[in-house]
Amino acid sequence: MVSKILDGKALAKLAEEDIQTNVSRLKEKGITPTLATILVGLDPASATYVKMKQNACARLGMDSIAVELSKDTTTDELLNSINKLNNDKNVHGILLQHPVPSQINERKCFDAINVHKDVDGVTCLGFGQMTMGEKAFGSCTPAGIMRILKHYQVEISGKTAVVVGRSPILGKPMAMMLLNENATVTICHSRTKNLEEQIKNADIVIGAVGVPRLIQKDWIKEGAVVIDAGYHPAEKCGDIDLEGIDNIASAHTPVPGGVGPMTINTLILNTLLAAQQEN
Ligand code: NAP
Repeated sequence: MVSKILDGKALAKLAEEDIQTNVSRLKEKGITPTLATILVGLDPASATYVKMKQNACARLGMDSIAVELSKDTTTDELLNSINKLNNDKNVHGILLQHPVPSQINERKCFDAINVHKDVDGVTCLGFGQMTMGEKAFGSCTPAGIMRILKHYQVEISGKTAVVVGRSPILGKPMAMMLLNENATVTICHSRTKNLEEQIKNADIVIGAVGVPRLIQKDWIKEGAVVIDAGYHPAEKCGDIDLEGIDNIASAHTPVPGGVGPMTINTLILNTLLAAQQEN
């Protein structure tokens, strides 16, 4: 068996063409889709992620507004910034870069984002709406993974899916999105007993853990679809040991070039959709 590569990088590039066309159409009407990014503190990795998102906006003809706050920012000060952006008619999407410094109540700040501008899918309201199958921007990484699965026509309905990780931005919404597509979903986490046994039953495996190569290739069922959301640049790997996966899986996302590019693309797509919905 040769595992099919689920090429997120190529898919994101393809999607960009369509996004660019739609951005041009909106601009002809005098509307420029605009993403506001909020960065609190000087964490270099966060600054790089925000820059990548701003660059994607620029590449596609969209505007971005950069709000940069000091590491000593309080919850109230951050809430104030979010409210200003909520009330700014020229801002269609708001991204609060995670994580924020520990003195800030991150959940309270996420939930202060107007759900119509929650293009990163971080609010409890948006999560609830998505889970109930209502219209909402889902969290970008799992929503990007769903776009990959759909594009490559991976069958989800009736399949057994194991999601390893239960974070609010990745594992939990991922599980709900797969459930909404009629998969039978198991969510694993740090207290799960016998992870290997859970994974051995899975038709679809999602690695969303943050531990390099935690999921071993010997645990993967023959013919399974393997999605690796992790990326560890120092180790040059993701959360799943993908070496030799070619002879085991039926399809897999590469690391890098799989899930990552679709996360940013989904954020940009959601900002476009938010601008279209408002106008
Ligand atoms: P996170 O908030 O740290 O959550 C990690 C999850 O993994 C937690 O639910 C944790 O369980 C679980 N876990 C940790 N060790 C485990 C173990 N030994 N066995 C089973 N489960 C374990 O991380 P995250 O933000 O969801 O990110 C997960 C991964 O995705 C990271 O590699 C991150 O870099 C990557 N990521 C990629 C993108 C992208 O755009 N490609 C975006 C976001 C994240 P508990 O809940 O019990 O602690």
